[in-house]
Amino acid sequence: MLFLTMPPIGPLISPLAPITLILPHWTILLLFVFATFYLWLSYWPGKNVKVAPIRASPFSPDKVPKNLDTIVIGSGSGGSSCSNILAQSGQRVLLLEQHEERTGGCTHTFRINGCEWDTGLHYTSEGMGLPTHRAGALLKFMTKGKQEWKRLDDPYDQIIFPSDSLVGEGKPNNASYDFNSATPPDAPTLVRDLVERIDPGNEYLIKQFEVWMNLATIINKSFTALGWTRILPKFLHFIVRKRVDQLYKLASYTVRDVQYAVFNEGYSIERLLDKCPTCPDGPEPDPVLRRVKAVLNHPIGDYAVQPRVATFAAQGITMAHYMEGASYTVGPTQNISIRMSSMLRNFGGEALCDATVEQIIIEKGRAVGVLVRNTSAGKEGTITEIRARNIVCATSVFNLHHKLLPKDHPSVKDFFDPTLRTIQESNGHVFLFCKIKGDAKDLGLPTHNLWYFNSYDIDEAFDKYYVDPVTHRPPTCYIGFPCTKDPTWPTRLPGISNAILISDGLYDWFEKWHGTQVHERGADYEIFKDQLAKHLLDILYETVPQVKERVEYWTLGTPLTEVSYLASFHAASYGTKCDTNIFKRLNDRWTTTPHTCIPVFIWREAMRCFLPAVCGAMYGGILGASAVLGYTGSLRLVFAFLSDFARSLQEENPKMSKIEAYIKALYKFGTEPVAN
Ligand SMILES: Cc1cc2nc3c(=O)[nH]c(=O)nc-3n(C[C@H](O)[C@H](O)[C@H](O)COP(=O)(O)OP(=O)(O)OC[C@H]3O[C@@H](n4cnc5c(N)ncnc54)[C@H](O)[C@@H]3O)c2cc1C
Repeated sequence: MLFLTMPPIGPLISPLAPITLILPHWTILLLFVFATFYLWLSYWPGKNVKVAPIRASPFSPDKVPKNLDTIVIGSGSGGSSCSNILAQSGQRVLLLEQHEERTGGCTHTFRINGCEWDTGLHYTSEGMGLPTHRAGALLKFMTKGKQEWKRLDDPYDQIIFPSDSLVGEGKPNNASYDFNSATPPDAPTLVRDLVERIDPGNEYLIKQFEVWMNLATIINKSFTALGWTRILPKFLHFIVRKRVDQLYKLASYTVRDVQYAVFNEGYSIERLLDKCPTCPDGPEPDPVLRRVKAVLNHPIGDYAVQPRVATFAAQGITMAHYMEGASYTVGPTQNISIRMSSMLRNFGGEALCDATVEQIIIEKGRAVGVLVRNTSAGKEGTITEIRARNIVCATSVFNLHHKLLPKDHPSVKDFFDPTLRTIQESNGHVFLFCKIKGDAKDLGLPTHNLWYFNSYDIDEAFDKYYVDPVTHRPPTCYIGFPCTKDPTWPTRLPGISNAILISDGLYDWFEKWHGTQVHERGADYEIFKDQLAKHLLDILYETVPQVKERVEYWTLGTPLTEVSYLASFHAASYGTKCDTNIFKRLNDRWTTTPHTCIPVFIWREAMRCFLPAVCGAMYGGILGASAVLGYTGSLRLVFAFLSDFARSLQEENPKMSKIEAYIKALYKFGTEPVAN
């Protein structure tokens, strides 16, 4: 019947006359439409290109390509990902980075005195290194498989506390705890191990630890749902609404309150999703719970907010990120951005460093270009105007509104209106970079990360440190040895080792030196730095005593270093502070969407809503690119990515048919939790 009611289509398909003898006309038309759609969908210029990794060169006006499609401001993981995807779609992209020599933002590495240090990627999830996981598959897609990763051995993290004078009678008094990878069926083993070291046989604790771990899994899945709301049209958001609402609910609770609900009050997940009680002020009086809570604050350094203030979403997503294990780059972390941004040249674009964007040009309400000057030339440098069809801001929302948009722009006015925004910028850091004489193996340096905790009462330790960082040690401190994680280190830098220590640091402590030049900040700045460095050196020598006589060089980075090298507004190198404001609906406009009220202008702040980590920034960058590409371009992007993903799945399991591989890739793409 359908055949009889079809309109006459003979004239349309007359060249196909011989086939029409075999197949009915409407079938041929359908095939034709399908083939055209397939050809259109599978058009992805980046599909078969080969990328030659080349560092960005310093900015000069003559290096700027003509007829630009998009300018991306900032070459961190977000900007590098965004520009890579846009270039692969065939766009001519210009990536501008203010750092005088290097792209990469927090992933850049630097060398002094013959030693090398990474800056803001000390480990990532195992999934980022696996092309059969969505995150790893995306990285492979962007670097054409050139970025390799090494899985870190277990334990990937070890936390260390001072000895505990308040331990409960007859309870073990362990000062260190290992964190091993725990794929979901093994999670109970991890839980039992931890409980065994705090209060053996406590079944209540085991049950509540599991609630805690399951909350992390819920948050992880909810972030995927949140990602979908950034891609799907609004009328389809109902599909993921329940999960997104769960995320927003859990994100409105502090870590301290959720710990109180789960461990003091024995809350279940269902009860918690309804309401969270408030934890009373002061240190936890129960010695066992005091220790449980301190140990479970283990990922705090990754989001850097004290438990009384931190959103539980940051805790949950960070726990989930590393639950299945961790990995590190093969070769310096710097290579990630070099490999991603080199793609731009294949399509007539360019990546340039030493290029500070001073302002975004807005004309008739549209973003049409940027004003750029050489960073190395200082404020006196010549300004160059560059125009493009789209402008992407891949630096923080704080940089955007404080520095880049014209002061009288409506978005700037809204940003400074306290009734329209409650997010704050993150704190900064204090870094100690050490060069150590000797081979890492001979010295027996740990291959895992060490996290030093100054106290079991973490909120109290933060309060004291923030008020007086000279007298009080930092509440937490990361200690890592990249030389033991990167397998290329022994051949690249034989006979020497490195260490990095990172603690929290407030911009306020350093504000009086703002605007002064690196290495020219005066004697009182150097004295203050030495006092902070002493704490970190003491912590290093206590935790890894074998390096004591071996540190032949060290240098301390402060929040002002982050202002200089990352151009972070007020040293907010994590962007938006991970407190309970970050997921208030009021702040959606500033945090979780790449779209802005300014036409043809996108920002990649979406990353902040996933995780203050390289993985989160990468997702944010890709969402930003998808916003530039629109629905049709994004459909092509998804199809190109799925083809690549399916190929990786087939390589892993050659018995899998192509169609099975596509279905699995599609399923993983749609449902795999963000942080895996
Ligand atoms: C101390 C520290 C340790 C960390 N450790 C880890 C870790 O172990 N694992 C992990 O996954 N994540 C880690 N992170 C987090 C992770 O590195 C970041 O969240 C992520 O890399 C941020 O990427 P981004 O692109 O958003 O921002 P950034 O990396 O900050 O990039 C923004 C870029 O924009 C540039 N820029 C700013 N303003 C301008 C301008 N006006 N003109 C031109 N360019 C401009 C900056 O110079 C910078 O290069 C760490 C971060 C820090 C600070």
